[in-house]
Amino acid sequence: MEDIIRLTAVELGKKIAAGEITSVEATKAYLDQIGRTDKDVHAYITVDTEGVLKRAAEVDKMIQAGELSGPLAGVPVAVKDNMCISGVLTTCGSHILDNFKPVFTATAVEKLLDAGMVILGRTNMDEFAMGSTSETSYFGATKNPWDLSRVPGGSSGGSAAAVAAGSCAVALGSDTGGSIRQPAGFCGITGIKPTYGRVSRYGLIAYGSSLDQIGPMGKDVTDCAALLSVIAGHDEKDSTSADRDDTDFLSALTGEVKGMKIGVPADYLIEGLDPEVKTAVLRAADTFRAMGAEVEEFDLGMVEYAIPAYYVIACAEASSNLERFDGVKYGFRAKDFEGLHDMYKKTRSEGFGAEVKRRIMLGSFVLSSGYYDAYYVKALRVKALIKQAFDKAFEKYDLILGPVAPTTALPIGESLSDPIKMYLGDIYTVSVNLAGLPGISLPCGYDAKGLPIGLQLLGQTFEEKKIFRAAYAFEQSFRNEQRVSPLVENRGGLPAEEGGAE
Ligand code: GLN
Repeated sequence: MEDIIRLTAVELGKKIAAGEITSVEATKAYLDQIGRTDKDVHAYITVDTEGVLKRAAEVDKMIQAGELSGPLAGVPVAVKDNMCISGVLTTCGSHILDNFKPVFTATAVEKLLDAGMVILGRTNMDEFAMGSTSETSYFGATKNPWDLSRVPGGSSGGSAAAVAAGSCAVALGSDTGGSIRQPAGFCGITGIKPTYGRVSRYGLIAYGSSLDQIGPMGKDVTDCAALLSVIAGHDEKDSTSADRDDTDFLSALTGEVKGMKIGVPADYLIEGLDPEVKTAVLRAADTFRAMGAEVEEFDLGMVEYAIPAYYVIACAEASSNLERFDGVKYGFRAKDFEGLHDMYKKTRSEGFGAEVKRRIMLGSFVLSSGYYDAYYVKALRVKALIKQAFDKAFEKYDLILGPVAPTTALPIGESLSDPIKMYLGDIYTVSVNLAGLPGISLPCGYDAKGLPIGLQLLGQTFEEKKIFRAAYAFEQSFRNEQRVSPLVENRGGLPAEEGGAE
């Protein structure tokens, strides 16, 4: 039988639609791969082994009855553990929600179900999506499928690792300051952070509400385009979601970039950028040139202010958003306490991890009277200037090309000891969220250790189609070099009997 886990989501969807593979067979193949790899990778917090096969069987029936016809019907998907699913454990990687079963379903997830997708389980993440390594999860770290001694990036590290390990066909992540793009880069997969407002945030457990956006993470550009078409759209339950009909993203995959103007911020290619990453990114710029795009370096400006502004705003919003976790309304409550205030204090002290507490404290500080103007309001001004800098760049360029992160995947443990260093690793991603822009991350090379290097393409708001068009063109030219992680490679190399029990 065909090696199902090597098919892209769209290829698999086609075969399911054609009756060549059933959703149950596909689901079993992925459950087998989860069984083989997830003890080591720990991409999942919860795998819904029984429920998912039942659902796949139902979906198979609906497909046979002609009730489901979308390109991803029957395809197994993984969902980051910060999107609510009614009746399903939704932890946000935190002790404080480790028994939380929501009574409603996030709109993006609802749309997966409407499209006939099959949810394999919930992926691991940094606690409350705060982090760049997926090490701050209460449930333990996720490992990088390319090298188990390294981090998969974060905070959607579980979703990225699941795709890279071949333990789901495609996944949903969320991106507040890079959490889709950076783990996609570290794990050698593709992920897009859509324009703010493109996808409903209803049911996404909020970190920084003005920055958060749900997006697809997949094996290639086509899968991301297909999945974004499924989840995009206006939702009356999210007043910030945009009402637009330009959501047929597959139509943008023409491979044509002739005449496209691409700017490369010279101020991204600075000290601190790993030379191997820089070489790979500049090589990608040359590829675009060779394909007929006009590529030049320019000064974007404001680059050094993005991280401080982001951490002030994200932490301010987080400190407010996380007030609701008080031991009364949701999840965990401390056992021994004296009176209401003591209950709040003990619940939050025991329920939140160190990184979350650090950010609640920082956020409360910058919002407190006397400091509000000096930090929070100033950060909002910087945010406006960053948006202006991008607007100016997009007057001249169709797209901006740069690295996703300054390095490839770091060894486990290295970032946790130095949070400031970890924050600095977000230099190429956070400004995109501050400006509300769309950005894709896709593989563009491998370092000497064989670790994937990510390329980032940014567009003006709601110009995802342009991004997909260019990303697809690049992907075609990179196809011969593209690799899969050893966990997929070795599994694929085994004879069927040894490779799995399908
Ligand atoms: N690394 C960034 C942070 O820790 C971004 C996280 C995210 O996008 N959720 O805030």
